[in-house]
Amino acid sequence: MKRKRPSWSNWFPQLSARPSPQDLVQIIPPLKRREYSIASSQKLHPNEVHLLIVVVDWVDTNGKVRYGQCSKYLSDLAVGQELVVSVKPSIMKLPPKTTQPIVMAGLGTGLAPFKAFLEERQYQLEHGEEIGEAYLYLGSRHKREEYLYGEFTFKIRLERTSMN
Ligand SMILES: Cc1cc2nc3c(=O)[nH]c(=O)nc-3n(C[C@H](O)[C@H](O)[C@H](O)COP(=O)(O)OP(=O)(O)OC[C@H]3O[C@@H](n4cnc5c(N)ncnc54)[C@H](O)[C@@H]3O)c2cc1C
Repeated sequence: MKRKRPSWSNWFPQLSARPSPQDLVQIIPPLKRREYSIASSQKLHPNEVHLLIVVVDWVDTNGKVRYGQCSKYLSDLAVGQELVVSVKPSIMKLPPKTTQPIVMAGLGTGLAPFKAFLEERQYQLEHGEEIGEAYLYLGSRHKREEYLYGEFTFKIRLERTSMN
C-alpha cells in the first residue's frame, strides 16, 4: 500500500498561512524603481528625453499572458499623460576626445545609451568637429521584429558616408 505523504498542514494545521490584508501590506515591500537609459543626446534634442523600452511579457504555467509591471504601465500611457521620474547620472560616458574611436555592443534595449552616443557624435560632426570612428554591434534575433532604431543607424551611416 502506498503511504500518503505527510504535509506541514497535517502536523501544524493551526499554522496555515492566512495573512490579513493589513499583514500583507506590512510584509510586501513597496515597488522598486525601474531604471531606463536615456537614448537621446541632450545637445541634439535639448527639450526631449528619448527612451527605448521593451514591454516585458511571458506566458505563465496556466497559459496566461503576464506583463512586467513598469514596462506595461509605460506602454499603456496615453500621449500627453504625465508621470513622475527622477534622473540619475549614468556610469557610461563617451571618451573625452571627440576623435577617439568607439566600439559599442548592445543587446536589445542595451542599444539605448549607444543611440545617445551616436546622436552626440552626429551633433559634433554637424558642428564641424572632427570625430573618430564609431562601430555599433547590435544583438537581436529577428531583424523584422527587433531592428531597433534600424532606420536611425542606417541614416547615420549614409550621412557619415556622404560627408567623407
Ligand atoms: C541600468 C539599467 C538600465 C536599463 N535600461 C533599460 C532600457 O533602456 N530599456 C528597457 O526596456 N529596460 C531597461 N532596463 C530594465 C528595466 O529597468 C526593467 O527591469 C524592465 O523594464 C522590466 O521592468 P518591468 O517592471 O516591466 O518588469 P517587472 O514587473 O519587474 O517584471 C520582470 C520580472 O518578471 C518576471 N519574468 C520576466 N520574464 C519572465 C518569464 N519569461 N517567465 C517568468 N517570469 C518572468 C521575472 O520575475 C522578472 O524579474 C534597465 C535596467 C537597468 C538596471
